[in-house]
Amino acid sequence: MKNFIIFGPPGAGKGSQAVILSKKYNLKHISTGDILRDEIKNRTKLGLKVKSLIDEGVLVSDHIILEIIESVIKHSKGYSGFLFDGFPRTENQFTQLKRMLEKLGHRVDAVISLVVEEEVLIKRMLSRAQIEGREDDANPIVVKKRIETYREQTEPLIDIFTKRGNYFTLTGNDTIENNFKKICNIIDNLETK
Ligand code: ADP
Repeated sequence: MKNFIIFGPPGAGKGSQAVILSKKYNLKHISTGDILRDEIKNRTKLGLKVKSLIDEGVLVSDHIILEIIESVIKHSKGYSGFLFDGFPRTENQFTQLKRMLEKLGHRVDAVISLVVEEEVLIKRMLSRAQIEGREDDANPIVVKKRIETYREQTEPLIDIFTKRGNYFTLTGNDTIENNFKKICNIIDNLETK
């Protein structure tokens, strides 16, 4: 079993890569953002609880996120590993993820990080809003807030990933196809431990 985190600021292209990577490597794609948006769409109790936070561009509580992750991990069968997208977003989320995987005898095998300049991120999210209709992409104030939230609460994880090793960065400015090839290269050349 191989488990990966696809990391980066909002709008970096994590989701696009995650979809094609999970197909190629038979990974269970876990996007906390997609799961939360589904809950909102289905008007569940959880959806109602998180809607205002997502609309503001701030993080949902670790407690809620970790419960979701634990449940998805528990109910996923038949995959060759997990691909976490948009998670972890805080140091505590990462610590708890490691704990959950350890209990199953697994680990995070690699973190792949997409680096994209802020200007490009903003442009992408605003144009993505037209295509996907995500409200949090359509409002420039919310877009800015999400990037700020990322810088403050999520970016510090980079230090931890770097110290841990198997941390790979690539520029998200490249085409989806080129980045996909680069990531496949990283995965195919990982040392098996
Ligand atoms: P993006 O990375 O493009 O901003 P996501 O779909 O990953 O979008 O997340 C959308 C929103 O969902 C975030 O702004 C946040 O409010 C919430 N969210 C998603 N994942 C997490 C997480 N791991 N921890 C806390 N909040 C999250």
